[in-house]
Amino acid sequence: MADPASYPVLTPFAVGIRARCPRCGQGHLFRGFLTLAPSCEVCGLDYSFADPADGPAFFVISIVSFPVIAFAAWLELTYSPPIWVHLLTSAPLLIGGCLALLRPLKGWLVAAQYINKAGEARLVRKGED
Ligand SMILES: [Zn+2]
Repeated sequence: MADPASYPVLTPFAVGIRARCPRCGQGHLFRGFLTLAPSCEVCGLDYSFADPADGPAFFVISIVSFPVIAFAAWLELTYSPPIWVHLLTSAPLLIGGCLALLRPLKGWLVAAQYINKAGEARLVRKGED
């Protein structure tokens, strides 16, 4: 493992959306589509710290659903199309948009968690680290 000072300064967004290791920026963050790898194959960073929980799903729902539902409502109120039109327009937009954003947002949150040293709060007495 290299000296920590030798790692480049990385931003969570830059490495997260590319699904790369938040420490070295080289190794892969994911083993599958959304499953985190156990560690970085380049620098050996253990990814067990990573716990984005429901964060990626919340952001994806917030980003994708509001414009797609607005589009579907506009389509319905303007043209009153049969339901199959919604199944061919709104449903693929909703599903495709969610699938396209989940992985980059999860990578971004995991990278932000590492770079900002986020963790559970704990009590520290004077003199302890
Ligand atoms: Zn790495």
